[in-house]
Amino acid sequence: MFLGKKENGMTTQSTQPTLEDIVSLAKRRGFVYPTSQIYGGLANSYDYGPLGAELLRNIRQLWWQEFIQRRPDMVGLDTQIMQHPQTWVASGHVASFSDPLVEDTKTQKRYRADHLIEAWLEHHPEKAEVKVEDMKLEEMAVFMAENKILSPDKNPVTAPKSFNLLFETAIGSVTGEKAIVYLRGETAQGIFTNFKQVLDSTRVQLPFGVGNIGKSFRNEITTGQFVFRTLEFEQAEIEYFFNPNQNKWEELLSDWKNAMWHFITQTLQIKEANIRWRRHTDKERSFYSTDTYDLDYNFSFGWKELWGVAYRTDYDLKQHQEHSGENLEYTDPFTGEKFLPHVIEPAVGINRLFLMILTDAYWQDTDRGRTVLKLPFNLAPYKVAVFPLLKNKPELVAKAKEVFGQLIQKYPTAWDDRGNIGKRYLYQDEIGTPFCVTIDFESLEDESVTIRNRDTAEQTRVKITELEAILAAMVH
Ligand code: ATP
Repeated sequence: MFLGKKENGMTTQSTQPTLEDIVSLAKRRGFVYPTSQIYGGLANSYDYGPLGAELLRNIRQLWWQEFIQRRPDMVGLDTQIMQHPQTWVASGHVASFSDPLVEDTKTQKRYRADHLIEAWLEHHPEKAEVKVEDMKLEEMAVFMAENKILSPDKNPVTAPKSFNLLFETAIGSVTGEKAIVYLRGETAQGIFTNFKQVLDSTRVQLPFGVGNIGKSFRNEITTGQFVFRTLEFEQAEIEYFFNPNQNKWEELLSDWKNAMWHFITQTLQIKEANIRWRRHTDKERSFYSTDTYDLDYNFSFGWKELWGVAYRTDYDLKQHQEHSGENLEYTDPFTGEKFLPHVIEPAVGINRLFLMILTDAYWQDTDRGRTVLKLPFNLAPYKVAVFPLLKNKPELVAKAKEVFGQLIQKYPTAWDDRGNIGKRYLYQDEIGTPFCVTIDFESLEDESVTIRNRDTAEQTRVKITELEAILAAMVH
């Protein structure tokens, strides 16, 4: 039957859309708008429109359900954007959370040195052995000078210097009494600073994890990557605490890699061919980390990090213990052993998941001359749309309102009575609504409606009473 889960999403997919395809659909249909557009926009900043807000909410909710609510070994937090500034001194962000910045000597535009080197390497296969992620600032400077690497406008650039990504602001209402604080550069530190309070206020026992979702801020230099890299973005991070004498970090890391893979390929239904693991090289990895992997997605601008997972030892708790003077040790309830737990950290950006989902779902159906977002049911902003065949027939509108009223109690449901049915279908296809239900004159006679499947465009006649069961069958 055409409505089954298996058939949904099985029609053939055309090649990857370009970033322009995605940006254009996102703007046209109200997923993503440029921020402050009436004032000319703001670099690397985007607002989410009515449909984008729903899609973000669905992604966030699925992550929270899968990693927090459906696991007995996990709890969640919701921590502040502004924290005590010592947090960022202890974490190392104040000293070394930076990107290598160069400036075009003619246009004064700024670029990341590593990105310019990467772009140059793409055109120089003879240097395939060069790994930009392994380079220190001075090595980048030498490499750029030796190879005369220019800006995208073909102008010379300055030598790379370190550019801190933390945004500063100030609190305090009396002039002169302001205290500098930072907008958090990641959500993870809020987990470490609350570690003791979570231990004291809940019944968690090692191994256990704490998740935190929220906005983070980074003064990013690179422009033009749409919502992949923005100044303000949402992170979903986990610290999974364990006793290194009782759990092997290799096993936990592998469990987390599997959980991440499951979320992407099963829950979000992303094509496996478009994701891959990349292990960080020894030089690239932070000094305190023993092993780090990136889960990359094949974006239209190349394979890029979506989600990172790292074994960070007890580095962060140790740092916060030292800087705060608080004892952050865990006491084993069975042996009485006191120690600082180690962590595995899976950290993902909700907005990168969002861009991946739009890219993966985008389908140019050339046979039928339409653009379709093949969003899985759990992600679609609207699960179903209801139409009266004609807007000017009160009996059709009344019946359609009745069906709409029933469905909207359970599912986000769209209502559309504008234009003809064909146009309404095209619109719902572009915003990813899996089903459209049309109420026509026959419906008034026999309580049946036409239900149309987004991916196959097939239409079937079903009873109104069957609609809820059909939709319920789509829910995991
Ligand atoms: P990149 O190397 O791409 O700058 P990162 O390694 O600095 O990313 P992490 O510090 O590991 O990123 O942050 C965890 C996750 O947060 C990333 O995997 C990514 O999904 C997301 N993220 C990081 N920076 C941004 C940003 N500027 N805009 C949107 N998402 C981001």
